[in-house]
Amino acid sequence: MNKLEKFINQNLPKVLAAETASSLGDRSKYIGASDIGSCLRKAYLGKVQHVEHDIAQHIVFQRGHIAEELVAKMLHGTPYKTQVEVTGKAENGYDIKAHIDFVVDFGAECVVVEAKSTSIPVEDPYDSWILQVQMQMGLLKSQCDGKSVRGYVIAIDVNTGWFKTFEVLPNKVLFEIAMKNANILAEALKKNEEPEPEIQLYCSKCPFKGTCSAISNLECETDLPKDVVAAIMRLASKSKLEKEIKEEKKLIQGFFEAVGLKQAKVRDKIVTLMTMRGKKAVDIDLLKNVAPDIYSKVECYDRGYSFIKVV
Ligand code: SF4
Repeated sequence: MNKLEKFINQNLPKVLAAETASSLGDRSKYIGASDIGSCLRKAYLGKVQHVEHDIAQHIVFQRGHIAEELVAKMLHGTPYKTQVEVTGKAENGYDIKAHIDFVVDFGAECVVVEAKSTSIPVEDPYDSWILQVQMQMGLLKSQCDGKSVRGYVIAIDVNTGWFKTFEVLPNKVLFEIAMKNANILAEALKKNEEPEPEIQLYCSKCPFKGTCSAISNLECETDLPKDVVAAIMRLASKSKLEKEIKEEKKLIQGFFEAVGLKQAKVRDKIVTLMTMRGKKAVDIDLLKNVAPDIYSKVECYDRGYSFIKVV
């Protein structure tokens, strides 16, 4: 690591922590709208334990801010305010504070806009996004002088440029679910007791997965042979490398295809763009359409296959 990298490693986490503290305050002292949409155990532990992130994670987290900056440009020219704080109380008196990314005030109507960064295209908004916006709209409604309120989520993949907007209309039942989750979290914080975990798509990235009963007790490490545990740990340490290899191959393939190159010699390596002829196959959907009688006679399920996934 050179001097600059050492400096960045020390400086960036401090700068980002100061930035978060100045825009959101001490997040361990209140319940935010993003806390109540998914696993409450993760939200709870995020407030009561200090989690150290490595520099790569800090950089990845910044994609959310980049998405927000893009949305600010998308909304340029509209009467919007950013980081609008709306407040409420849980049943036990615990503070609830939602920081809404954007509120566009059209006079008779306020429109909440929440920016979300994603690394894959999303067909439908995640439930956690919807609950977050429901809570924001519900709290805003009580604080915006009788104006009507509705919302949007803008999901952006900052790597590919993909984006999509989802309209979110106020829904009393969903707002009540959001408030119920806020009350569970508030009670957990008051009593110092972990709420129940709830499996999420992002469990593999959760800093508390190692002690989580929802995933780590599926089969105990002590029940497995030592060699198997060692192989799992080796595999886990290589999964990041596997992703990097895929990215490198994609980049090289893209270049070869763009310039029409089939083969190149780089030092003692020969790099070849391999083209495999597609295997003959039957188009099942087409067969179903053009020859339903034959399809119904040959239809069967294959035996499926198994594979190992380490999260
Ligand atoms: S691993 Fe998953 S279920 Fe467990 S605390 Fe984290 S997010 Fe919740």
